[in-house]
Amino acid sequence: MANVKEVEEPKKPVPVFSMIRGMGMLGKNLLRKPVTIQYPEQMPYIPERFRFRIFLTLDSCVGCTLCEQVCPNGSIKMEHLDRENPHNKRKIYPGVNFGTCTVCRNCEEICPTHAIYLSHEFQTSRTKNSFYYSPEELSKPEHEVLK
Ligand code: SF4
Ligand code: SF4
Repeated sequence: MANVKEVEEPKKPVPVFSMIRGMGMLGKNLLRKPVTIQYPEQMPYIPERFRFRIFLTLDSCVGCTLCEQVCPNGSIKMEHLDRENPHNKRKIYPGVNFGTCTVCRNCEEICPTHAIYLSHEFQTSRTKNSFYYSPEELSKPEHEVLK
């Protein structure tokens, strides 16, 4: 049987400096205020130029479908809506899927009547399994949209 020679592992130095630095950071963070906030009781800071939730003014929409055509990822789908609007003879209006919308603003920029536009609203959470907003839902304030 071969003679196995035991090799002793070299002793590692205790990382005293790193330990002291770690304790220092811990102490500093213990004295800091938390960076988290109690949302939704406390509202986060939203920059003035922030835009997200899209709105639609149904009476201004002429059903030209430009917004649907310009959307780069197919987030807009035209829907038939039976409502009186002399400017929208085809009775079609855009609906938006916020699950895929990248907030590029192409739809807002191309709309000839400013019927579709992005707003400061950011709270679009829903309990139903879809982020799709129908034209009617797009025309309502967020608190009136069925979750
Ligand atoms: S903002 Fe851009 S991605 Fe979102 S619906 Fe409009 S065109 Fe489509
Ligand atoms: S929202 Fe504007 S671009 Fe879209 S169909 Fe209506 S009028 Fe045309």
